[in-house]
Amino acid sequence: MRVLLTGGAGFIGSHTAIVLIEHEHEVVILDDLSNASDEAVRRASRLAGTEIPLVVGDAGDRELVGRVLAEHRIDAVIHFAGRKAVGESVAKPLEYYRVNLGSAIATLEAMAEQGVERFVFSSSATVYERPGPLLAEDAQVGLDLENPYGRTKAIIEAIVTDASMANSALQAAVLRYFNPVGAHASGNIGEDPKGIPNNLMPFVAQVAAGVRERLRIFGDDYDTPDGTGVRDYIHVVDLAEGHVAALEALAPGVLTVNLGTGSGGSVLDVLRAFEAAVGRELPHEIVARRPGDAAISTADPTLAHERLGWRATRSLDDAVRDAWRWQRQNPRGYAD
Ligand code: UDP
Repeated sequence: MRVLLTGGAGFIGSHTAIVLIEHEHEVVILDDLSNASDEAVRRASRLAGTEIPLVVGDAGDRELVGRVLAEHRIDAVIHFAGRKAVGESVAKPLEYYRVNLGSAIATLEAMAEQGVERFVFSSSATVYERPGPLLAEDAQVGLDLENPYGRTKAIIEAIVTDASMANSALQAAVLRYFNPVGAHASGNIGEDPKGIPNNLMPFVAQVAAGVRERLRIFGDDYDTPDGTGVRDYIHVVDLAEGHVAALEALAPGVLTVNLGTGSGGSVLDVLRAFEAAVGRELPHEIVARRPGDAAISTADPTLAHERLGWRATRSLDDAVRDAWRWQRQNPRGYAD
């Protein structure tokens, strides 16, 4: 298939582009580069052994999306574009609603106008109202969430469902990501957060690289085995393979699946895995809990295996080793 990746220059999109090409698909990327680098597309092209066309522009621009769909005779869209910083979404809710909802609606409208029926959407485990262990897809989803970012994802899920009700030809997959981490095994592409990372893995990687002084562990008094928060860390290449499996399994209607491993890792597990990869202790301190954080969030990944024939195969140690290789080779990300 010829696949358009909106937001495809970002962390998950760039890895997905490579795996799609490995599976004989053709890829076009549309990205406004507001939180991504064209260097990621150049490196992904090199790794994939083919030049990936990059259109620099906004997925919220319906006419532009329509032109790209027509010019490249696109068969399917994977919609990654959107703002993704949870904390920032609390400070800038209107921007998050405008960009995330606007780009999803514009992309779906452009697809309808051009007769493109295949749509894969980047959702998030944050849509679950009551996080916990082994969340299945039928767990409660709604707007009673901790932040606007999660609400944009829950609303877009509803939009996709409504669009599917109105157009029975639409073939959609909604992918609820748990915690994407790691990097391509080459160390050439990886996560390149702007400013101070909010997420645990890039923060620890920067501590290991000497860019940040010490990790602050947000609470060690949770009701978890070691007291620190537990998440389902999924290697970004496993996640990328999940997108390809979802694309190839599309059928009329909406299939909603978790993409997670089913295993939980604590903050201390991540820290220790990093210390093992780096070969020394990393400075850290326990501080107060971060508001809004759940004790545990892990996936029940059964449905993805049943419906997509997909499951994650890479471990937390694999992800940490790959993240460290990327960080070591590119201490300042794509700016190096
Ligand atoms: N965390 C931490 N220090 C940090 C960043 C995160 O202790 O600097 C913890 C956080 O409380 C949570 C886990 O690491 O238990 C994963 O946080 P992240 O922000 O990566 O993902 P999310 O909270 O969105 O699942």
